[in-house]
Amino acid sequence: MLLEVENLDVRYGRTHAVQSLTFGVEPDEIVTVLGSNGAGKTSLLRALQGLTPIAGGRVIFAGEDLTRLTPPQRLKRRLALVPEGRQIAISLSVHENLLMGAYCRDDGDVSRDIDAIYQRFPNLGSRRDMSASVLSGGEQQMLAIGRALLARPRLMMLDEPSLGLSPLLVERLFGLIVDLHRDGLAILLVEQNTRMALEVAARGIVMELGRAVLEGPAAGLRDNERLAAAYFGDAHT
Ligand code: ATP
Repeated sequence: MLLEVENLDVRYGRTHAVQSLTFGVEPDEIVTVLGSNGAGKTSLLRALQGLTPIAGGRVIFAGEDLTRLTPPQRLKRRLALVPEGRQIAISLSVHENLLMGAYCRDDGDVSRDIDAIYQRFPNLGSRRDMSASVLSGGEQQMLAIGRALLARPRLMMLDEPSLGLSPLLVERLFGLIVDLHRDGLAILLVEQNTRMALEVAARGIVMELGRAVLEGPAAGLRDNERLAAAYFGDAHT
């Protein structure tokens, strides 16, 4: 396993947002975490990145216990998060936003990697010196993914990347996720677009009130009536 999450607990006062969650992600896998609003998905990803304190449990990544490490230390170990709502710095240029993604690196390949991002996303390349505020929602999502790629992640976690995107851009985004996976990246994908997420993922975990209530191969979850009743009636389908 690349990522091993053992009995993870996240609490905010009396709210038990993640309750004794245990699961793993293999080095060559896309795993999706599904669930309605408030299920604990964002809390899970933030806890894995070290941005939200954990109340119990362990996070093992590439055989190393990260539980007590800071977010930059986790980034340096090549665990990266594309946060909910992109979190682009709109007062900075596109290029500066990308540089932020590499701030934990001390190798000499950052410029080359940024050029590779511009090749992958030409719309970012042509706006490299412009304020990130000029980007469309879809371009901002590409920038957030590009920024995360600059940490050279082994595992990329994405928190509802399709939110607010048009159907065409959602298609492109999922195509990109498949491409990144093909390039060797493991992916932990939080989504409310259940159908699309289960199309690209090998396995899925459904959370409800902080707990994993369903877990298994994506194909099985696609056919699961309970999941269908709970989530496939939503606006994304
Ligand atoms: P969404 O899709 O709405 O982002 P989610 O599945 O990501 O939902 P979380 O945002 O992790 O769920 O929230 C899980 C629970 O924790 C909810 O009850 C939420 O109200 C609560 N919660 C989340 N963040 C905080 C916080 N900073 N302080 C207090 N409670 C919080």
